[in-house]
Amino acid sequence: MKPAHQPLLPGATLGVMGGGQLGRMFVHAAQQAGYFTAVLDPDADSPAGRVSHHHVHSDYLDGDGLARLSRLADAITTEFENVPSRALASLAGDVPVSPSADAVAIAQDRIREKAHFVKCGVACAPYAVIETADHLAAVADDLLPGILKTATLGYDGKGQQRVATRGELGAGWVDAGQVPCVLEKRLALGYECSVIVARGHDGQAVNYGPQRNLHRDGILAVTEAHGEALPPEIARRAVDAALAIAHGLNYVGVLCVEFFVLAGGELVVNEMAPRPHNSGHYTIDACDLSQFDLQVRTLAGLPLVAPRQHSPAIMLNLLGELWLAKGSKPSDPPWAQVLALPGAQLHLYGKLEPRPGRKMGHLNITGASVAEVRATAARAAALLGLPSPLAAA
Ligand code: ATP
Ligand code: MG
Repeated sequence: MKPAHQPLLPGATLGVMGGGQLGRMFVHAAQQAGYFTAVLDPDADSPAGRVSHHHVHSDYLDGDGLARLSRLADAITTEFENVPSRALASLAGDVPVSPSADAVAIAQDRIREKAHFVKCGVACAPYAVIETADHLAAVADDLLPGILKTATLGYDGKGQQRVATRGELGAGWVDAGQVPCVLEKRLALGYECSVIVARGHDGQAVNYGPQRNLHRDGILAVTEAHGEALPPEIARRAVDAALAIAHGLNYVGVLCVEFFVLAGGELVVNEMAPRPHNSGHYTIDACDLSQFDLQVRTLAGLPLVAPRQHSPAIMLNLLGELWLAKGSKPSDPPWAQVLALPGAQLHLYGKLEPRPGRKMGHLNITGASVAEVRATAARAAALLGLPSPLAAA
């Protein structure tokens, strides 16, 4: 096994657990830099598997599949946080793995994740851990109305229930199968933002400026990344908090930390993702180094340099609904009209079946000024039948 501090140079093979869109964009960045790639995913048609040099088609815990991946790859990362951390731990016996199984295990479990935030001195929403009927009975009244979230396996708002009364809370916990949960107080959000950090084996960290995120129905809809997206003081505090969280984990790789900004300007951490994040997709077109380029560099142990954003950007997420808007058969959105807009760059993930809420792609809009990207984003949204992206402004 190669020591982690020796850089893996182009020509080596980089492996990724998971074949979704994040894995696909990682594969694109790795291949652009001259690496070979290997993807492990159970789905034969996975977005990343179909563009990778090697595709290990197996379950995440299948011993043969993991052994094949570790033979193919010189270093391995993950593209989604629900990859079983014990699969990463087992791979790490043979090949350098980053982020570590331990860091991923913390990010996978809201109970451990919140404990880490508290340890780092970063405020999160008031919450209670519910693992037993006694915990449920002991919940303080002032956490209601709240959001009951399963401790593990939630994403895109799945595994969450809004509960207003103790009765709804009890019923919600039964509905969740009485698995470990956290109850979070429902906060009056002013808006949301996130910070993407890349941290190397040597502890050096770089970051993008925070971006402002608009969610609809628990799913990211719009990201705005430019100098007017956030007040500078909030941006500074969010970056400091994200770096403290990454250093506190001794994290290696790309990490996204999501925040709520409350009406009074208070910054509250929501959660973290141990990988590139949907809110960082604008970096592909608006920055000299994308979040996937930095993921390649952290994995390969190459130098990290601070990324520079050269253009204001707005990203619109493209969910399955856009294909299902007309009639019973899926039909393509009006790409030719959208792509006639200067600064609009389309990214589609090669998913064969559009479904409501399914992330099919995103549209990055860059321009010379904030006013220009806002105007173009509004026109793109209108062409696509999306609500105005400027709700985030
Ligand atoms: P993802 O992993 O896709 O970001 P998730 O399923 O892990 O989503 P969260 O990030 O916990 O879910 O919540 C999704 C959204 O729900 C948040 O971005 C926010 O808009 C809203 N939300 C979550 N928790 C709270 C809260 N305590 N108060 C108010 N709104 C909340
Ligand atoms: Mg979230």
